[in-house]
Amino acid sequence: MLHVADAMGRLGTETAFDVLARAAALEREGRSIINLGIGQPDFKTPGHVVEAAVDALKAGHHGYTPANGILPLRQAVAADLEARRGVAVDPDTVVVVPGGKVTMFFAILMFGEPGAEILYPDPGFPIYHSAVAFSGATPVPVPLLEKNGFAFSADDVLSRMTPATRLVIVNTPANPTGGVTPKEELDKLAEGLAAFPNAAIMADEIYSRMLYDGRTHASILHYPGLKDRAIMLDGWSKTYAMTGWRLGYAVWPQSLVEGATRLCINCHSCVNAATQFAGIAALQGPQDAVDAMMETFAERRRVIVDALNSLPGFRCIEPGGAFYAFPNIEGTGLTAAEAQDLFLDKAGVATVAGTSFGGYGEGYLRFSYANSTENIERAVERIAAVLNG
Ligand code: PMP
Repeated sequence: MLHVADAMGRLGTETAFDVLARAAALEREGRSIINLGIGQPDFKTPGHVVEAAVDALKAGHHGYTPANGILPLRQAVAADLEARRGVAVDPDTVVVVPGGKVTMFFAILMFGEPGAEILYPDPGFPIYHSAVAFSGATPVPVPLLEKNGFAFSADDVLSRMTPATRLVIVNTPANPTGGVTPKEELDKLAEGLAAFPNAAIMADEIYSRMLYDGRTHASILHYPGLKDRAIMLDGWSKTYAMTGWRLGYAVWPQSLVEGATRLCINCHSCVNAATQFAGIAALQGPQDAVDAMMETFAERRRVIVDALNSLPGFRCIEPGGAFYAFPNIEGTGLTAAEAQDLFLDKAGVATVAGTSFGGYGEGYLRFSYANSTENIERAVERIAAVLNG
């Protein structure tokens, strides 16, 4: 009888991948499925980025790189942060990893153990809760509410902190809600954290370039007072449509860089070398593909929010960022899981139940609008037919 570690029983998953697998199985049976379940841009990586990787392979970049990433890439990240977020970052505090997820796993492993408490957003990216539970720490959800536009409230976060709080996780713009937290709340949180000098903060800023209506991004890097305990997670997956390349980075406090690098050495050694050259090209090359993608997402956002609000029992606020709509579906009388299954089975539309993102996601469904306007409209028509039928 095999005896796997108890921690494996606490490790969760990301339901979006299960929905993707079920949708693919239905498609193999000949069903027409519109996938609004998966969180990845439906665009190709810009051509010049692909070329940079091909060139790197041809130039013989086939070996290991430094575990924390090649220096030119870390310098490119620092230059990009200076240009876009207006902050000076030492390239030696940048640790390059295979995707945004890896930073969150490492940060949680670094702080999580029995007796420790880790705060995370609910509804939020499911891996936060999963990894915290796996580490043995106590997961402490911070509710994100529709009435606040799914922004987090600094008071809500601070009121849940105790002397055992080791790490606070925040995410703006957010998955699964598209919620954007205003700078004032981050200011307030930064101020309040002064009373908890032993707590680190990880800001997941992977959607920082995906904002609508002229909103600007509030980054944790703007708070010099938090420099010694703020981990800023970002990456290329969303901004440059590079989910399959596996490339992300974080800016770590100086004192944690060595530990983060040691985790890299123990886990994956380094990121694929050619991918790192692609990452440089993405940051330094033309940004028109990013702008064009965001214009398309802005148009789809308008279409999907209007369409969802026309459905009986649905109520959908306008998301300020990312590419998700998170309608309240309580009026349909269905639970989130029932709605997810019904719409997949009967309407051929893949969505993700809000409860996949935590208990506070009950009564909501996540729609990713990383799909064509035509498909979004068709998907909502099919759901309407099921609800009205
Ligand atoms: N953070 C959030 C909030 C996300 O939504 C995602 C991807 N869905 C990630 C991190 C992980 O990104 P990556 O694919 O680069 O690991």
